Amino acid sequence: MSLVGKVGLFGGTFNPIHVGHLRVAEEALRQFGLREVYFIPTGQPPHREVADGVPGEVRYEMVKLAIAGRPGLSVSRVELDRPGPAYTVDTIVLLQREHPEGVAYIVGADIFSQIEIWHDWPRLLALCPFIVAPRPGVDLRVFSAPPFDRAEIYFLNMTPIAVSSSEVRRRYRLGLPTVGLVPEAVDRFIKERGLYGARRTPPLE
Ligand code: ATP
Repeated sequence: MSLVGKVGLFGGTFNPIHVGHLRVAEEALRQFGLREVYFIPTGQPPHREVADGVPGEVRYEMVKLAIAGRPGLSVSRVELDRPGPAYTVDTIVLLQREHPEGVAYIVGADIFSQIEIWHDWPRLLALCPFIVAPRPGVDLRVFSAPPFDRAEIYFLNMTPIAVSSSEVRRRYRLGLPTVGLVPEAVDRFIKERGLYGARRTPPLE
């Protein structure tokens, strides 16, 4: 089966979006010939609280800033506009209806390896193809064993990128450099608002 012309769905907290997310989305677009990749920031994630209490609308704003001028990348409000916890299965079903060309779900190997804590995971695994991004420390061989053997899985061919939102937040909190980890416009946004404990800088005139 080929993924050419399908829409990639990339769900996450994006708290904040970082260069690892962008690279994964752009590689997925290119390596599999996807039509488009939608970032889908979660409103209230089912498994955890959002660190630093950064609201969905603010995380959405940061995604918008990060993807500006990058062809093929878009952001979807589908999980923000739905009240309560949004389950990935429901999001995929909804977007499959809107995209008869088909969808593929993009996910990091860390998160995907914990599939058994996702809501309705047996159905989820059978729902659409998955594009898995390598992450440092995750052995991709786990995806050859049950329950993954029943899923259609594609692997992104890239060197794992050692960037995470938690590390980025830690750096803002401690006033450490974030150059090269977060897109410039997002970095400015975070500093102007003092998010994650960043020292506030006045907006540019
Ligand atoms: P946190 O550090 O707060 O857990 P995160 O960096 O994992 O955050 P999320 O918004 O939770 O970011 O992740 C959204 C999706 O992007 C997940 O599928 C995650 O596995 C994937 N992802 C995040 N960072 C990377 C990375 N550096 N390489 C590959 N995939 C990544």
